[in-house]
Amino acid sequence: MDWTNKRVFVAGHRGMVGSAMVRRLTTGGYTHILTRTRAELDLMDRAAVREFFECARPQLVVDAAARVGGIAANHSFPVEFFLQNATIQNNLLEAAADFGVEKFLFLGSSCIYPKLAPQPIREDALLTGPLEPTNEAYALAKIGGIRLAQYYARQYGRTFLSAMPTNLYGPGDNYDLQSSHVLPALIRKTHEARVAGLPEIVVWGSGTPRREFLHADDLADACAFLLEHYDSPEIVNVGCGEDVTIRELAEHVCEALDYRGELVFDRSKPDGTPRKLLDVSKLTRLGWQPRIGLREGIATAYQWFCEHVAEAP
Ligand code: GDP
Repeated sequence: MDWTNKRVFVAGHRGMVGSAMVRRLTTGGYTHILTRTRAELDLMDRAAVREFFECARPQLVVDAAARVGGIAANHSFPVEFFLQNATIQNNLLEAAADFGVEKFLFLGSSCIYPKLAPQPIREDALLTGPLEPTNEAYALAKIGGIRLAQYYARQYGRTFLSAMPTNLYGPGDNYDLQSSHVLPALIRKTHEARVAGLPEIVVWGSGTPRREFLHADDLADACAFLLEHYDSPEIVNVGCGEDVTIRELAEHVCEALDYRGELVFDRSKPDGTPRKLLDVSKLTRLGWQPRIGLREGIATAYQWFCEHVAEAP
């Protein structure tokens, strides 16, 4: 089957994941990549989404459109994280079903799993226990998306897949310290401390939580792989299979940026879930593996930061 002739709509193509997806599809030879900016198509607007699907007739959809953020943003804005994610995914899934989309790839998150799920987390841990409170709203919205995709598969025979990526980073990441995830936050803090000659950087929490990090280009590659090789509504974890403590992550960043100051831990900030390492054996068995290691990934993320954030006018 030649997938590259299909009309593929990448929802959220200006985000970190969506832009990585467009890069991956382009280098993979896809010739009909459809994108719409928010000004052109408001994904919160059900009628507009339906009109777009009716006219553009995408055959494949990758749903990379989401309201995302780090621990502080998730904790502070549960209403927006729940409503925007639920609305966007409902609009896209419904329109995809009604206008004949052949394959839909929904992107969830590793935070859909119970806070204290056995590690590494297998796909069947979904809905087996309480969620981590700091990102419950986002997780509940994403669980709704997974289930809706599965209901469409069961009730209407749709080929709607769901992938669960671990913590992501890469070009196009959010570097705003209030709303970002940990890795871009540490890159920014370390860069600014080095430039200003400051003796320390502040790391939120205790430094002991463990997180797994995947480069957005690896995720995009996994998504293309799943689109081309996977048909089941059963969810698939996407990660690298290794995690680090937040302290170790901070040390990696300091090393990559050649910063010799101290790490200070601000324990008034939440740690969030103690550990979030995905069991990626299902995807490995299917035949996919990541390529970008954390050290190399941090270096390329820092390069992007320097070009687009630090030196931006
Ligand atoms: P999470 O994986 O949903 O918890 O999201 P984050 O990426 O925001 O946070 C991961 C872990 O890194 C948490 O334990 C945070 O407390 C910790 N962390 C340490 N420093 C920072 C920081 O400057 N920003 C953020 N967002 N998290 C930090």
